[in-house]
Amino acid sequence: MPSCSTQREPRSFRRTRIIATVGPASSSPEMLQILWKAGVDLFRLNMSHGDHGDKIEVIRHIRALERKIGRPIAIMADLQGPKIRIATFSSQNVELVEGHSFTLDLRDEPGTNKRVHLPHPEIISTLEPGMQVLLDDGKIRLEVTKRGQKSITTKVKVGGTLSNRKGVNVPDVVLPVAALTDKDRRDLDFALDQGVDWVALSFVQRPEDVAEARKIIAGRAAVLAKIEKPSAVERIDEIVELADAVMVARGDLGVELPVEDVPGAQRRIIRAAREMGKPVVVATQMLESMIHSPVPTRAEVSDVANAVHDGADAIMLSAESAVGDWPVEAVTVMCKVARKEEGDRRNRISGNIYSPHATAEDAISAAARQVAETVGAKAIVTFTTSGSTALRAARERPSVPILVLTPSQTVARRLCLVWGLYAVKTRDVESFEQMYQKAKRMALRHKLVKGGDRIAITAGVPFGTPGATNVLHLAWVSGDELKDRD
Ligand code: PEP
Repeated sequence: MPSCSTQREPRSFRRTRIIATVGPASSSPEMLQILWKAGVDLFRLNMSHGDHGDKIEVIRHIRALERKIGRPIAIMADLQGPKIRIATFSSQNVELVEGHSFTLDLRDEPGTNKRVHLPHPEIISTLEPGMQVLLDDGKIRLEVTKRGQKSITTKVKVGGTLSNRKGVNVPDVVLPVAALTDKDRRDLDFALDQGVDWVALSFVQRPEDVAEARKIIAGRAAVLAKIEKPSAVERIDEIVELADAVMVARGDLGVELPVEDVPGAQRRIIRAAREMGKPVVVATQMLESMIHSPVPTRAEVSDVANAVHDGADAIMLSAESAVGDWPVEAVTVMCKVARKEEGDRRNRISGNIYSPHATAEDAISAAARQVAETVGAKAIVTFTTSGSTALRAARERPSVPILVLTPSQTVARRLCLVWGLYAVKTRDVESFEQMYQKAKRMALRHKLVKGGDRIAITAGVPFGTPGATNVLHLAWVSGDELKDRD
């Protein structure tokens, strides 16, 4: 079976994390294990498909795999969000002709090539003449010519065949719809009950959507905001501030924005997230041709490499791993391309353009990177309770791996999304002596260093106090530390 590293050997540790969407092609225990071995760090469950029964099984398999391999694996539940759809037609499909008129209305009757039911009064009342309505992932484009009480009349700008329940995108407005639909709330309850690590919010329109979801989730999972609306790109800084992570969801973003605007939006979203030190995921169509082909196109390889170069924390597979014919090969390609790109020294030099913020955590993290690189230390070891220092250490993009020691399994799992972190759940330390002994022992045990190497350790004194990072210590590893007990 091809794989970038069948052992996931830590010394040649890959920094960029890989997310695989689980679906029929990848949900068996055997396949989940093969995909993990090939390089997956986080498994995504798309709540738009399948039922809760299927998801329970997959979550059980992933948790069993985690116990078997002894490494944290993160699970993300991706909520469907307020996806808007037209109703149905009297025939199987209809043909919309350019220049003709087409009406979207509140009449609950089967549609024709002149009209269709749009069961969303909030959209009918929000759209104004001149605005765009996109149907079926933007394949059909309409322009609003008139708004009535219970209907909107449009002119077909780009025609085509339209069938039942196709999606509707309205890029020109911020819709007065709640961030979470009733289905999302049911899926969220389920996902939180199952103990997922990350919840992804779809169709975030404004920062308030993230705030509302955060209130409901109340710390039970980390919150990722998918950026797929132009209004979210416009307020990206506020959204990044409120979310734990963001995703460049290029599928819907490329429907809502002209496709030529997506690369610029991707760079803008990555920059906003990198500046604040929040993880950022680049998603959708990364290796689309590998749904049916064992090899990617050169353009896809460039796309993955560019996302890594631009500073993404994670890159994501959707249909490639969920329903594709070559899920393992797709993970392997991502893994190899990421490693190659990370290995290019010029990227490391040009990549870190984000100055530390004026906090003790950032000062220590920046100093740890600099000290490690100056003396040739082989790893940075970070003690963290909440995970926050680990995020700041990753924001520095050091050239050596960051070993994160945390007493929290939840934190260790959530950090699977973050660039360059190798998280281990372990008991807290209580003294300076315990701190550096444990740091050396864990770095050796996890094969990040060998005898004779140096490590840079960061921690907070008093130990076990969240947010107290104030120590930077350099230590030599002798190689004998493994004889000591944990
Ligand atoms: C996207 O639109 O790019 C995306 C990741 O969302 P989904 O796969 O849920 O459509």
